[in-house]
Amino acid sequence: MDNQICFCGRLGKISCSWIAANLGRRFVGCERYGKRGACGYFMWVDTPMCARARVVIPGLIRSIGRLEAQTKTNKKIKMVLFVAPISSWVFLDLCLSSNLKLCVFE
Ligand SMILES: [Zn+2]
Repeated sequence: MDNQICFCGRLGKISCSWIAANLGRRFVGCERYGKRGACGYFMWVDTPMCARARVVIPGLIRSIGRLEAQTKTNKKIKMVLFVAPISSWVFLDLCLSSNLKLCVFE
């Protein structure tokens, strides 16, 4: 399946489908696909997925997306929880080491 030549004589480009019906299924197409002069050559490289895989794999991809979003949120929370105490300690130190009356501790 490698090194397929398209109708316009160019080496075919292997790509991966990301639509739900053919998720992860590789295909060969004209390297000029989407450009002027593309020949429209298309050939599947992989066999079709079974019906169960077409249901399970999109669900797994959605789960990964949710987990990645949660991980981003957790990193932001972790940063705030790291920075907030440090900034308050710095502020407290400034107040204690200076005669600024911005801080009221008396
Ligand atoms: Zn072509």
